[in-house]
Formats: sequence, structure tokens, C-alpha cells
Amino acid sequence: MVIAVDGPAASGKGTIARALAAHFGLLHMDTGLLYRAVALSLFRFGGDAASEFEAARAVHEIDKIDPSDEELRSEIVGGMASRISAYPAVRAALLDKQRSFAGQAGGAVLDGRDIGTVIAPDATIKLFVTASAEVRARRRMAELEARGMPAHFDEVLADIRARDERDSGRAAAPLEQAVDALLLDTSEMDVAAAVTAAIGLCEERAGTPD
Ligand code: C5P
Repeated sequence: MVIAVDGPAASGKGTIARALAAHFGLLHMDTGLLYRAVALSLFRFGGDAASEFEAARAVHEIDKIDPSDEELRSEIVGGMASRISAYPAVRAALLDKQRSFAGQAGGAVLDGRDIGTVIAPDATIKLFVTASAEVRARRRMAELEARGMPAHFDEVLADIRARDERDSGRAAAPLEQAVDALLLDTSEMDVAAAVTAAIGLCEERAGTPD
């Protein structure tokens, strides 16, 4: 079974994808971390993020980045990841890694922006997780505060909106709901409710023959 979880920044898709992986006994890949690792490689090892060629070259450096590196999860790296992810050459260079993870025996859960549309178009189950920009900004604020990095609501909201626009407006694999994806709006849900709803949708879909 392959589960594709897509959605905008801070929609809760990562938490949901991890919970689904634990529930169904599948391995999980956070594909946003790959784009973040490319951005961080450019910072760390040099390279111009304004150059598609240099950004694509940085894909070969990402194994040097420790996945538990705190900087990977920073806002600045997330913003830069959103910029370099618009380059077709970067997306192409990251394709095989994601496709082979999705194709592994036993199945997998992947979360990102283009899993159901590009990486795993034949996924058994596709979820598109979303929430209003205001709710997502409040969640991001809480996350930042928990990490000792308090931020201003207006700035976080503006950043979320800018990220949405870039991710949805780009030509290469834009963020969009796959036609056969199930929509889960978590605006009015806490984490436990969102996870329960996602598991329910997957069990329902897995039990429904095409
Ligand atoms: O999900 P996360 O915020 O970690 O992703 C960082 C950035 O990487 C996103 O804003 C998006 O532009 C890009 N991304 C992507 N395709 C994916 C996953 C992430 O373009 N499958």
C-alpha cells in the first residue's frame, strides 16, 4: 500500500503522514526535507540559489546533511527550499530517490506537494490535507515558540501566503489536489482529531474497490 499525503505548509500533513505510517506499519518519507537539504547544502557548501544549475548540483551534496540537523527545519531554509523547488532540474534530480522509496516492497507513506500528482500517481490512497492560512500561521507560531523562536503573527501569515503562492503558482509540479485525492480540511481539528479522520479516510478508501 502506498499513501500519498500532499498539502500546503503547516497543514498538518507531516504529523498525519507519520501517524498513518505508524498505524499501517509502513515506512515514511518527508519529501520536503529533501528540498530543505538542497537549500541547506547551498548555504553550507556554497552555491548560488539564483542559479538552477548550481541548485541542481547541490542535490549531490544532500547526503552530507544530517536529517536531524535543527537548521533543516528553520523558516529561512524552508523559504529557500520553496524557491529552489521551482527549478525543474532540482525536481528531476530528486525524482528517483522519491520514486524508489514509493516503490519499495511493502509500501510506504510519502508527504509533500506533488506525491499524488507526480511521484506516485498510482498511490493506493491519496490525501490532500489543508487548513486556512490563519490556522496554519497560528500552528507555525506555536511550533516556533516551542523551539524558543517567538515570531510575529502577521509575518508568519505573510510568509505562509507567499509560500502558498510560490508552491501553487510554479510551472513545475505545482501544489494541487490530485483529481482522485480525498480532501481533509483540518482547520477545525486538533492533532488527535485530524489523525483519526485521516485513518478513517484511508480505511474507507482501502476497503473500496475502484
Ligand atoms: O513541506 P516543507 O515545508 O518542508 O517543504 C519545503 C518546501 O519544499 C515547500 O515549500 C515546497 O516548495 C518544496 N516541496 C516541493 N515538493 C515536495 C515537497 C516539498 O516542492 N514534494
